[in-house]
Amino acid sequence: MAAISLQGICKRYRDHTAVHHLDLEVQAGEFMVLVGPSGCGKSTTLRMIAGLEDISEGKLVIGGKDVTHAEPHERDIAMVFQSYALYPHMTVYMNMAFGLLRTSRLSRPEIDARVQDAAQRLRITELLQRRPNELSGGQRQRVAIGRALVRKPKVFLFDEPLSNLDAKLRTHMRGELERLHDELGITIVYVTHDQVEAMTLGTRIAVMDGGRLQQVGAPMDIYRAPATRFVASFIGSPEMNFLPVPQDDGAGRAWLGDRYGVDALRPGTVLGLRPEEVGLAANDAVAAASPLRWSGVVQRVERLGAEAYAQIRVGDVGVLVRAAPDVALETGQSTVLTADIARLRVFDSQSGLALAERA
Ligand code: ADP
Repeated sequence: MAAISLQGICKRYRDHTAVHHLDLEVQAGEFMVLVGPSGCGKSTTLRMIAGLEDISEGKLVIGGKDVTHAEPHERDIAMVFQSYALYPHMTVYMNMAFGLLRTSRLSRPEIDARVQDAAQRLRITELLQRRPNELSGGQRQRVAIGRALVRKPKVFLFDEPLSNLDAKLRTHMRGELERLHDELGITIVYVTHDQVEAMTLGTRIAVMDGGRLQQVGAPMDIYRAPATRFVASFIGSPEMNFLPVPQDDGAGRAWLGDRYGVDALRPGTVLGLRPEEVGLAANDAVAAASPLRWSGVVQRVERLGAEAYAQIRVGDVGVLVRAAPDVALETGQSTVLTADIARLRVFDSQSGLALAERA
């Protein structure tokens, strides 16, 4: 396993910059997830690490070696693609062995031992004599991972590897990837647009938007303390609510100004609260102590069994509130919302940056 250091990496196409001065340190053995919406530059970044795209500017170091301009095969990496890219006419065994037979100096018994070991880890030993068209999507994905494993690379790169699988299989394969990472202690850089994959798989997550790195951190740190409004809305499902600063609430405004400074009272500033962090004053004695209050009207209540979600209109903003499954709320009813102030985030109206609490 090896650490990866991206230092001021840029990618320019003729009239377009896809990645802007990216600085990112991936520790040896870390599971780093690059996540962001379509077109944010995450695949381009992965392909630059792999050597499949030229690096326009900056420096790339893998395992202490400058590989900015090295050929892909000189980087000691293995990449697993969304499309699997298996050879259709070869057996599973040959798909896994082929690269080593062609490019390594390993003996046949050594190669065989590696294929058998990878097949066992991935639980596909009984499939070794089949061809790709005789496999399910999940099995093909395992073969593609197996082909990477047998090479024993320093770094694994995954490009949306689970996108072609159905929801149930995706959940299962997430568990499998986590197990492999734990067992082998390998360094992984994993690209996905799916924030659930990012939250559940990453040791750390790097959130990108518009070719720029927005924030890097442990999943729960990013969930609790997003650095920008973009990160706040991208990470977490259901999405974070963005409530206006209450205009008619003198005590609430005074409290906010006192805690976050006058910037928090500027027009357009928004307060970020996740659905589980908004209280209902009517039936929550603890939340009644909240200094911030909003009047709203219940639009809809969805009772999911273990919990309920209430859609509440506050002025022209919709707010989603998670509540107990038997919460006494009906459509059309007026209610008062409160805030879990220990979890409140305040975003600057202009920059979208989270405001720090005043010391
Ligand atoms: P993501 O993986 O986050 O969906 P990409 O890294 O594929 O995004 O693309 C980032 C940006 O770079 C996009 O705006 C895309 O259109 C652009 N881009 C990607 N490849 C090329 C290319 N070969 N030529 C020009 N622009 C490209």
